[in-house]
Formats: sequence, C-alpha cells, structure tokens
Amino acid sequence: MRTMEEALIQGKAFLKEKGITEGDLDAWYLLSHYFHIDRARYIMNSRMAITEEQYHQYLALIYKRGRHVPLQYITGEQEFMGLKFLVKEDVLIPRQDTEILVEEALKVSEGKEVLDLCTGSGCIIISLAKLGGTHNAVGVDISKKALILAEENARQLQADVTFLESDMYTQVSGKYDIIISNPPYIPTRDISGLMEEVKNYEPVLALDGSMDGLYFYRVIISGIGQFLKPDGYIFLEIGCSQAEAVSELLREAGIVDIEVIDDLAGLNRVIRGRYKKEEESFT
Ligand code: GLN
Repeated sequence: MRTMEEALIQGKAFLKEKGITEGDLDAWYLLSHYFHIDRARYIMNSRMAITEEQYHQYLALIYKRGRHVPLQYITGEQEFMGLKFLVKEDVLIPRQDTEILVEEALKVSEGKEVLDLCTGSGCIIISLAKLGGTHNAVGVDISKKALILAEENARQLQADVTFLESDMYTQVSGKYDIIISNPPYIPTRDISGLMEEVKNYEPVLALDGSMDGLYFYRVIISGIGQFLKPDGYIFLEIGCSQAEAVSELLREAGIVDIEVIDDLAGLNRVIRGRYKKEEESFT
C-alpha cells in the first residue's frame, strides 16, 4: 500500500537526482496540486493510502519537472498581483519582477486608457483593469495562441479588457493615457545561456529582443507620438543593463521625468516617464 508521504519522498528524491533547484519545494507543490491538498491537510493525512494509479500519475508530473519543464506549465497556473493566471507554453510565465511594473502603473491608472503591448498571458493589463480602475484597457499580442489564453484569463478574473491581435501597433488605433509593456528584451546571443526551463520551454518569441535586445523598445518608443496622449505615461520593464540605452531612446522621443526603478534584487528593472509634447512655436 502506498501513502501520500511515500509519494512525496519519492518525488523529492527524483528531483534531487535530476539536479532541480528547489526540487523539494516543487515536489511538494506538485503533490499539493495533484491531490488538491494544503499543508495542514497533508500533515493530518500524510499516512493516508493512495491508489497505485494516483501514485503513478503524481510521479508522471515529477518526471516532467525532472525534464526541466517549468513548474507553472505543469500546474497550469501562476499567481501574479494576488490573482491566479492560467499559463501554458504559449506564453511567458508571469514574473514577480513584473509586479513592480504594474505597481508603478497602478499609482496613476485610475480612469485611464491603457495600452499593453506584448500582453502574453494578459497578466499586466488584467491586473491593471482589476486593481487599477482603468477606463479602457487594451492588450496587444502578435500570438493568437497567447491571446486565446489572455482572453480566458480576463474572463475567469472578470476583468474588462479588450485584446487585439497585432504586430505591435500595426492594428492599434486611438491614443492612450498609458502605454505599458514588458517586451522581449534578451539579446539573441544570450538565449542559449539561459536556464533550461526558460530556453527550452518558454516561447522564444516572448524572450528574444533581437541583436542588442532593444528592438522592441525602439518600436514601442517610435509609436509614442501617434499613440500616447500629451502628458501620458510610459512604463517599460527592462533588462538590468538596459536602463541607460532605453532612457536615451525615451528622451529622444520627448519623454521627461524619466525614472528607473529597481527590483527586489537591487537591479534596474522598470523605467517610467511622461510625454511632454514640445510647445508649438508661433514665432
Ligand atoms: N506581458 C507578459 C508578461 O509580462 C508577457 C511578456 C512577454 O511575452 N515578453 O508576463
């Protein structure tokens, strides 16, 4: 007879053998996910008998994790800004660092029209619509598969967001008070050096920022004149060595009050600024 505890011990041992960082924790999360059980219930029921089928199904999840499939693609979910988002291989897994981007935008989002470029799972724009009182929230992505998931997330979380299939601004119209984005920003040559979980399983489309990693910032910033209202705000997540280059691009586009915000590790992570259109000269 198998017990839940036995399954967990087996799961931990397997992930350790495979060199999975925090494998003990992941073995527990997968157990908790598979049996729909929390810590307290597990402690009371760890000696409870489980069927042979349950044992093998749990271990099948463990084997997946052992192949470096990210935990969130196995459980199919990730919490972000206290909300539960569905995730699958079609989208980047929402990161804790990106909450900093959302928190900055939340300071000014009330009643605003917001455009989120490269929306992926929709985690940014849905959080702003749910928690930030936006007036018109639009999420854009080039990937139809990503948009299907983003729409499902908005539906489950009852967030009022419009999603648009568009290669950056190509299908976008109107002007917005806020443009926000966490675009792909990893230089192409750095991708092969990323963790296996990221480089083998997360969509390269969501990671690759082309040669110098700045491709999407250039595109986003080139649209400011057309899509950002005067006095509007721009919020961008950046790679930790990109603050200077992106600030420069923003300044050239008429963005002022540029501020760089660090993540919890003390690295540059978010950049914000405000669009001041030059006064027209009548002389
Ligand atoms: N906006 C999504 C996120 O922050 C996806 C970003 C991306 O695909 N680069 O998680």
